Amino acid sequence: MLMKEWETMPLTEAFLCQGCWDQMHVPVPIRGPLAFPLRLAGIRVSRMHPNLCTICETQFEKVKGAKQLLMSGSVLFADVRGYTNLSERLDSVEMANLLSAFYAECATAIWERGGIVNKLIGDSVFAIFNFPIRHDDHLQRAVEAGLDLQRRCRALPQADLFDVGVGIHTGEIAVGEVGQLCRDFTAIGPVINLAARLQGAASPGEVLVSAHARDQLGRAVEARGPRELHLKGIELPVNAYAVQAVR
Ligand SMILES: [Zn+2]
Repeated sequence: MLMKEWETMPLTEAFLCQGCWDQMHVPVPIRGPLAFPLRLAGIRVSRMHPNLCTICETQFEKVKGAKQLLMSGSVLFADVRGYTNLSERLDSVEMANLLSAFYAECATAIWERGGIVNKLIGDSVFAIFNFPIRHDDHLQRAVEAGLDLQRRCRALPQADLFDVGVGIHTGEIAVGEVGQLCRDFTAIGPVINLAARLQGAASPGEVLVSAHARDQLGRAVEARGPRELHLKGIELPVNAYAVQAVR
């Protein structure tokens, strides 16, 4: 089988923050001797992506001049299936190890394609593509990340204990800071809600995308569907496709 380029692409650790560069064209050193004075000023590598700095996640309003901005983006949710069952079968240390392995494989797959791991919520991961690192092909990157994280999780020593479901949607998202007392950098909007619902509807091992995402990808992907879904909180039935491969 031919390996696709993205299957072997390791993450290159950047010397400059890619987010500050893409958003402001400002060079912010995050590695090497030039990063030292910034570290003293409290600016560090972000936990959301190893090539971003903490300015990207904590200074959104200052940098952008608004609490939120609407932009085109793709979002991915991935979760561990049968989590409740698992927590009865495994002790807390085994459970923590399994979740750590799951998070690590998801993060690698997402980071290598320029997405950020915005949140880890219990047994699930929320990723945003196209902010702050810009990529015109953000949707394809999100789908590749979804397929790759599935493949990575199947290769884990604990693979026979759990499955993963992935949901992906694309469109206009609001990114920025939410909350007054506890400010939090995230993305909100109907696109995010639908992606979360698609993740909930995905069968074990599946990468489920919206019909809109399927249309955007066109011939770039092989997908099964449509599957008509009645999703909680969404009035009309939604068509979804299970992506098998990126061509
Ligand atoms: Zn930055």
